[in-house]
Amino acid sequence: MEQCISGTTTLLCLFGSPVGHSGSPAMYNFSFRHDGIDCAYLCFDVKEEEMEDSVKAARLFHMRGFNLTMPCKTITAKLVDELSPAARIVGAVNTVVNEGGRLIGYMTDGAGFVRNLRENGVDVKGKNLVVAGAGGAATAIQVECALSGAAGISVFNRQSPSFERALSTAEKLKAEAPACAVKVMDLEDKEAFQAEIAAADILVNATSVGMKPGEDGTIVEDTGVFRPDLVVADIVYNPRKTRLMREAKAFGCEKVIGGEGMLLWQGAVNYKLFTGLDMPVDEYRRYQNAHR
Ligand code: NAP
Repeated sequence: MEQCISGTTTLLCLFGSPVGHSGSPAMYNFSFRHDGIDCAYLCFDVKEEEMEDSVKAARLFHMRGFNLTMPCKTITAKLVDELSPAARIVGAVNTVVNEGGRLIGYMTDGAGFVRNLRENGVDVKGKNLVVAGAGGAATAIQVECALSGAAGISVFNRQSPSFERALSTAEKLKAEAPACAVKVMDLEDKEAFQAEIAAADILVNATSVGMKPGEDGTIVEDTGVFRPDLVVADIVYNPRKTRLMREAKAFGCEKVIGGEGMLLWQGAVNYKLFTGLDMPVDEYRRYQNAHR
């Protein structure tokens, strides 16, 4: 598979800071090459205050689209022409597609999460979830699960500005996804946390607890909550197997799902938006494994 950048190559990119660690160029450029698409994907290290100029540049250079990482997701939602339902509720975008000069903003973190669950045989429709966390990724997950037909979501966060944000998201979801019952509770209330997990189908860690260098951390102190039919999903992908995942498996959970797949499927959702094609996920996985 050879790639040649030519006079007609269309640019896509990631904006944010830092971006040097990003796996996105490898994934998208592999896929463009695989599918024979004349596009190239780069990373640009830009700060929030540089996003207005960056979006202008994207328009000027007729870029097909771009992704956003921290700290540029919220400001960019105010700079595009239209927002997807999830992006509108979350108030942030991680993907923008240029449709003939009109910039459409999407929030696909949650879609990547839902798709990863589906690829692992779990449909969120009609399910009750406990989601620990109310930061950027957690909010996107809550919104997408509600829009995808979850029966109920119990959000747990410690008392902080994120807690207030979770209350405001829950209010918005009352109007946008009224069939989904959303509750917001204090993560310090261990009794409530255990009771909600006992009544749930899926437990999600959407906090950064358990992420390197804090890999000894877990949101579940009492391993008694684990049971065979409780699906446990961790969105942390570094390490690939978190303490929560290891303990859930050891204490009987049959389905334990890690964060790496969410990252990959979010990329696949974006690839579809950019190109209209299904990303060559299996081929990219093989390539990734061969180059680990
Ligand atoms: P974020 O916006 O900073 O949110 C972090 C969340 O974790 C907040 O709810 C925060 O609560 C909570 N938290 C942090 N430390 C905690 C602690 N010691 N005890 C309890 N809660 C704690 O970050 P994010 O972007 O949502 O990312 C969260 C994690 O998801 C990171 O590990 C990130 O790498 C991972 N992630 C994975 C994917 C994927 O595709 N798999 C995508 C995005 C993010 P407070 O606000 O109260 O501090």
